[in-house]
Amino acid sequence: MSDKQRQIRNIGIMAHIDAGKTTTTERILYYTGKNHQIGEVHEGTATMDWMAQERERGITITSAATTVFWKYQNEDFKINIIDTPGHVDFTVEVERSLRILDGAVAIFCAVGGVEPQSETVWRQADRYLVPRISFVNKMDRTGADFFTVVDQLKDKLNANPIPLQLPIGEEDGFRGVVDLIRNKAYSWDEKSKGEKFFEIEIPEDMLEQVETYRTELIEGVVEEDDVLLERFLEDSDSISEEEMTEIIRKATLEMRITPVFCGSSLQNIGVQPLLDAVIDYLPSPADLKDVEGVNPDTGNKEVRERKEEAPFSALAFKIATDPFMGRLAFFRVYSGTLKAGDVVLNVNTGKRERIARLMQMHANKQIPLEAIEAGDIGAAVGFKKIRTGDTLTELKKPILLDTITFPEPVISSAVEPKKQDDVEKLVVALDKLSEEDPTFTVRIDAETGQTIISGMGELHLEILIDRLCREFNINCNQGRPQVAYKETIGSGVEFHKVYKKQTGGKGKFADILFEIEPAEDGKSGLEFVDKSKGGVIPKAFVLGVEKGFKSAMINGPLAGFQMSGIKITLKDGSTHPVDSDALAFEIAAIVGFKEALKSVKKLLLEPIMKLEVTTPDEYVGDITGDLNKRRGQLSDIEAKIGVQTIKALVPMERMFGYVTALRTITSGRALSSLEFSHYAPLPENILGEVLYKIRGY
Ligand code: GDP
Repeated sequence: MSDKQRQIRNIGIMAHIDAGKTTTTERILYYTGKNHQIGEVHEGTATMDWMAQERERGITITSAATTVFWKYQNEDFKINIIDTPGHVDFTVEVERSLRILDGAVAIFCAVGGVEPQSETVWRQADRYLVPRISFVNKMDRTGADFFTVVDQLKDKLNANPIPLQLPIGEEDGFRGVVDLIRNKAYSWDEKSKGEKFFEIEIPEDMLEQVETYRTELIEGVVEEDDVLLERFLEDSDSISEEEMTEIIRKATLEMRITPVFCGSSLQNIGVQPLLDAVIDYLPSPADLKDVEGVNPDTGNKEVRERKEEAPFSALAFKIATDPFMGRLAFFRVYSGTLKAGDVVLNVNTGKRERIARLMQMHANKQIPLEAIEAGDIGAAVGFKKIRTGDTLTELKKPILLDTITFPEPVISSAVEPKKQDDVEKLVVALDKLSEEDPTFTVRIDAETGQTIISGMGELHLEILIDRLCREFNINCNQGRPQVAYKETIGSGVEFHKVYKKQTGGKGKFADILFEIEPAEDGKSGLEFVDKSKGGVIPKAFVLGVEKGFKSAMINGPLAGFQMSGIKITLKDGSTHPVDSDALAFEIAAIVGFKEALKSVKKLLLEPIMKLEVTTPDEYVGDITGDLNKRRGQLSDIEAKIGVQTIKALVPMERMFGYVTALRTITSGRALSSLEFSHYAPLPENILGEVLYKIRGY
């Protein structure tokens, strides 16, 4: 593996909202020299939050990538920071970025500690096997407590936190950190905005504490390695800094521990050692196993060596629309080299695409590049059709790297432009937005002709409407957000359909016998099985039949929702030597499907959400009582000291405005998170009431 890859880090910064992700990123950009003025979040100038509305909301929604350079021990390292959004409505984007980054810095607030949302993101990182170092930020705040946060990492996240620093002073007396490996103390210079920092004496009153933690650290290290242990037993001072770093790095990469650092980004304390730690303890692409994927032609698993000279493969993890450059695709190169001007294959669309220009983003500046090599991250312009999650490869060496399916959108709402002239612009804009974000879908309601947009939550749709206005200059009226239901069937029937049309010349003829029934548990979409005896219906006509059923399922009979969870078996049929064709069979399927549905039980499927509420003990009764009224099903209550975490499954239908309701019940002292779980049939006793609400009759 080349040195180049050893000198790259692809990292994410994960944090609960408000823990200080933006502030810390700003400091990183400043100290790495790419940003000459420190932007403050509360002033709304933070560079990473480049979308206007993000600035206003103070949260980071999109996940772009920024490249910085950091000199450490006389080597130049490149750190690609992949911005991971923290809001739960956008978990898919979080997951997508976790997929392409190699390590992460988890930031915690020294006062708030581990919040429910940090737990969600931490678990996602566990699932994607992303090694982490932890940074306890805001050590300057009243109530800051480094050791409590370390304990919470253990208790709440099941992590194995190893402090590699200790804070010097706390709250407004916080001045610096002790580096436990080097056994040295550092303090920061206020005038240079923390750019300069210098070694100080370890404060007298900390000597004992430092000694305790350092001994524990060294003992932990030597336990990992027999040779070191032997040497340590002979001479306890014989373990070098490099040896300690190497062992800790190995344990971090194997996800057995998370080293813990501390600081105050706002007061410019502790950020540079955190960057050193990114180099010391987080993986480079050279540390990773060969990448696995599926050959789309054979369906077989294949591996690609992560070498610059291997066949090119990359994964697009973010599609953004830049006001000046148009569609910009961020991607990670896993193998090979991509050059500007190259023609590549988008394995997901099967189309060739020419890469017009390549670049890397430095805060909000773009630096054009000739080539991007294995292990690195970049952005490209020139794609005709590309979506988040698409794999790009060399034309003759296709491999599919990503097969993650997206969760279903659970909320819909009608939109229409305020000005009639904007109708066409709206279609184009919505198409662009759904390309960027696969959890956002657009459809036209067959009955009303309305444009319906669907997404992951109320805030998700709100932000999209906002973007239509700001980025595309289209003002919209938005209908009341509604649950994105689906339709299915609860019983089966065998049906015979003959479709015949005689009009002078060539007529139409199709004859099919099919059985329609509910699909086996949990299967979504249409499961189509052809059991007609060899040749009674030619293959091309069978394809017409399947196509017909699929299009008939787009608008269900109850209220026009997409149908799902249906199995159809084609059993028999016949053809006419002249009048039969694929279209006739397609029509027979569409009409036959609608007629067959008349004699089966029809069900509405509703999205069920996973809810987690963390609350002080005294509100548990009120919260669970309220959840009962919302048709909630408690799945678990976990008690921790003073607080409890209630887990429940609740229909989306009853979750509108829940955050406000919860605030009222608990005087704002509880935190909740909501995530899609699955679709389930709506109970029959309320079907009539819900249909009335949707259809108005
Ligand atoms: P994010 O939501 O995680 O991106 O957090 P921000 O960086 O936007 O920070 C949230 C708030 O905390 C802002 O008002 C920051 O000024 C403040 N903040 C960030 N870091 C620190 C810190 O180290 N100490 C203190 N006291 N406040 C901080």
